[in-house]
Amino acid sequence: MIYEDYYIFTPGPVKMSDEILEIGAKQTPYFRNSKFSEVIFNCEKGLLEIVNAPKGSRVIFLTASGTAGMEAAIINLLNRDDKALVVNGGGFGQRFVDICATHSIPHRDFRVEDTDLTNIEELAPKANFTSLVVNGHETSIGQLYNLNAMGEYVRKHNLFFIVDAISMLITDPIDMSAQNIDVIIASSQKGLALPPGLTMVILSPEAIDRVRDIDNLYFNFKDYLKNGERGQTPYTPAVTIILQLEARLAQIKRRGGVKESIKRAKEIAEYFRASIKDLPLKFYTSYMPNAMTTLTPTDGKRAIDIVNSLEKEYKIMVCPNGGDLRDVIFRVSHMGEMTKSYVDVLIDAMFNFYKIARR
Ligand SMILES: *Cc1c(COP(=O)(O)O)cnc(C)c1O
Repeated sequence: MIYEDYYIFTPGPVKMSDEILEIGAKQTPYFRNSKFSEVIFNCEKGLLEIVNAPKGSRVIFLTASGTAGMEAAIINLLNRDDKALVVNGGGFGQRFVDICATHSIPHRDFRVEDTDLTNIEELAPKANFTSLVVNGHETSIGQLYNLNAMGEYVRKHNLFFIVDAISMLITDPIDMSAQNIDVIIASSQKGLALPPGLTMVILSPEAIDRVRDIDNLYFNFKDYLKNGERGQTPYTPAVTIILQLEARLAQIKRRGGVKESIKRAKEIAEYFRASIKDLPLKFYTSYMPNAMTTLTPTDGKRAIDIVNSLEKEYKIMVCPNGGDLRDVIFRVSHMGEMTKSYVDVLIDAMFNFYKIARR
């Protein structure tokens, strides 16, 4: 099968565990019954725990990719009376800007470069915003923002806070209560290490109050909230991925909880970064998440050539960038079922590529 025997270091889909893969091989069950409602309730409870959601928070399960979660959150929770401050540090920040523009939500395109926004108070444009929108980890370049600082900022200015945490859940810390976050967007195929196709929007009680009537059928949160009361979704959900999510949440718990998962991701990231320090590569940003390392060649080689060589000669998938950054950076994900010996395959291949002996 295509790519089945490849080593996977792409930021979604990521390497999945055998336990989760086995569920994917089974017959998909019927779902309009109390047995499946139980599964949905378990998933909701588990997700709320992982992000430390305030009491009364709820989860909306959408059968779609992560971008649908971003768009659905914006259209259900912001309107033309809002003024959103949208952090734009790369491709995913730009996507939020495009979503706001598409739906005529007043917004400011807050372009940032080489900062984790610890000093957002000084950097942010001065205007009367009603909300702050950010991708906690800007996956296009591997940039992690300081959610503690942003949480302080939204508290001080009384802003509604939407965080796309798709590529930081389970690998990097996020705390909905402590960081004053109203909405978290999650997706199946990144740190959660499930197949793509399920996106989840976690709503605080304030966010639930804010859900408005919209001109949209499929993404109408009111329908999802109502159906969710009995553990159901308005339309056929990604049943198998939801079963896999339930198992994955149990797996995370069994392995010591989300803190332990974050610790392991950090260890893997640090192991990788320390192991390649003799190679002519440097880190693209100083604000790296545990989820990913973004690298720039320092010897004039083109990033895309490294990516292609790893794929063709070593059956290893790392992630190239498009556009201007194609030759400048490539990305190595640490999300999913990673072990040091699995990462060693990549490290050894990189040393081979450079014809340098690994010490
Ligand atoms: C992967 C990702 C998404 C979702 O992309 P889809 O292709 O729509 O699943 C959104 N935001 C961030 C930060 C991501 O890394």
